[in-house]
Amino acid sequence: MSLPFKLFRLQQTDSQLDQIHARLSEIANQLNDLAALHEVEAQFESSTTRLKEVRSRLQKAEQCVKDQSIKIELAEASLYGGKVQNPKELQDLQNEAVALRNFLSVLEDRQLEAMLLVDEAEQIHAAVSAKLNEVKEETTALNSRLLKEQAQLEKERARLREERLVAIAGTPTENLELYDSLRKQRRGLAVAQVADNACSACGTTLNASLLQAARALTQIVRCSSCGRILYGG
Ligand SMILES: [Zn+2]
Repeated sequence: MSLPFKLFRLQQTDSQLDQIHARLSEIANQLNDLAALHEVEAQFESSTTRLKEVRSRLQKAEQCVKDQSIKIELAEASLYGGKVQNPKELQDLQNEAVALRNFLSVLEDRQLEAMLLVDEAEQIHAAVSAKLNEVKEETTALNSRLLKEQAQLEKERARLREERLVAIAGTPTENLELYDSLRKQRRGLAVAQVADNACSACGTTLNASLLQAARALTQIVRCSSCGRILYGG
């Protein structure tokens, strides 16, 4: 295996490793990102609180209506019971019964209003609850997909690392040092293929002698513009 080809293969392995590394860190972020779930959980909590509030308001309103009805029964019992004979007292009782009935209708309106609020809160709570189940299911499904992909990528990474060790073992140190420093300077790409008489990384057209040298594959040849190692195979 020629040296330029070895370095080209090493570059392919490293590029694959770079891709795997990038995807693995994306996966790790996605696995930790529970923002959507937390948002719906917060909505669920607040709709539960709201439902409790309006149910308790309805209970109180119902109690007030019951209490008021009892007061009216008592007042009317006195009014029509025959014990009170004095016209002035009877008139007072009559007035009181009317006032109690008037207030009863106010209390009944409040009860109705509370019932409508409970209906509304129940609908919202049911919708949010369904949404929460949906998001939980989605999150579980997504996470299981991600974990599966993560496991596959880790396996592939281990294989490529082995491959890399083998590739490095047969390559002179000075070439590896050049390769590593180019990888650092040139966004991970140290070796560029020759395509259409040009460096495929930077696009510079190569002169005839450079092309010939790159195609011979007997020595390290570098692009005159970007300095990358050229692979003319
Ligand atoms: Zn170049």
